[in-house]
Amino acid sequence: MLGVYVHIPFCANKCGYCDFHSIVAGSSVIEDYLVALSREIRYWADQLGGRTCSTLYIGGGSPTLLTAEQLSRLIRQLTAEFNFASGFELTVEANPGTLTPAKLEAMAEAGVNRISLGAQAFQNDLLRRIGRTHSVDDIYRGVELIRKYGISNINLDLIEGLPDQKLTDWQAGLEAAAALQPTHFSCYSLILEKGTPFFEEYYRGTLILPDEDEAVGMFEFTQAYLPQLGYHHYEISNYALPGMESRHNLIYWHNQFYLGLGSGAHGYFNRLRAHNPADVFLYTKNWLSGIPAAVSGEYVDRETEMDETMMLGLRLIEGVDEAAFFNRFNVSIKDVYANAVTDLIDRGLLESRDGFLRLTKQGIFLGNLVFSAFLR
Ligand code: SF4
Repeated sequence: MLGVYVHIPFCANKCGYCDFHSIVAGSSVIEDYLVALSREIRYWADQLGGRTCSTLYIGGGSPTLLTAEQLSRLIRQLTAEFNFASGFELTVEANPGTLTPAKLEAMAEAGVNRISLGAQAFQNDLLRRIGRTHSVDDIYRGVELIRKYGISNINLDLIEGLPDQKLTDWQAGLEAAAALQPTHFSCYSLILEKGTPFFEEYYRGTLILPDEDEAVGMFEFTQAYLPQLGYHHYEISNYALPGMESRHNLIYWHNQFYLGLGSGAHGYFNRLRAHNPADVFLYTKNWLSGIPAAVSGEYVDRETEMDETMMLGLRLIEGVDEAAFFNRFNVSIKDVYANAVTDLIDRGLLESRDGFLRLTKQGIFLGNLVFSAFLR
């Protein structure tokens, strides 16, 4: 399995909580970036020499800020130059307010078969509060347009734990989202990242977040509600109809290889975890002058690969397949992590069942504590 991730680091506006690599830029900066990106695509296509890739994910930033022509050009180059497996998953992240018939038509014709729509909330005041430029009506219009152009595999991103968000807001939002019948939900908890406006506001005391009981209530409501509608909880933050799990993200959670193309993109390929510098102008300048943008990264040795396989795999609700771990590393999980596993099982945070080592219900809430036990 080899995934391909392509980063489009442009947004119409910076959201208050966002620490993703993205900037607000004019059309010539965007166009120059796309020319530079086309060179990196060509470079990696040559490096791969026809090796089969299994998924393509175009994320951001806001990929749908590109024009229809730019989207079409980018996706067509990627699918022409890389050797994707037949029926491969091709996802584009979309912001509801930026979707137009022309962009949907261009994406559908270029082979996009999955859209991940950043709905985030179903209350206009909450959307405004977090700095989103779309409205609830834009979400409805977006979903309708996506379906109109024949793309039926739709993920809705939602954020729980927003400032001023009540448990009842979350419940009503999730119900409204479910009424749209997407194939997949990503329900992320708000994380305050250093350097963001929300981080500053929080420490000034002007950002009121739901208390812990309310935050837990949101997570528990989601865990109970979505499975009743047929969405199974397959990763800490993700729910899908059967067979509609994100194939691209499963590559990450199974700790398999993926390329990261574009400014600030991260990749893991041939045992090297690498990333391009998160600087649109440097990235563009280098590729336009024929110099591959400097990539920094580190070689992943066998021990680190085992640790990462555990930490990423435990994010999956089914857990880590003990036989697959043995086949990959020729040693069992319990031999490598005997003390950590025994301790976490005794504390009720992990369980070993049916050949899988997985988080318990309590372990899901204390995921970071569990993951850190697998760091050597
Ligand atoms: S749209 Fe997404 S990437 Fe852009 S600023 Fe908002 S959260 Fe960040």
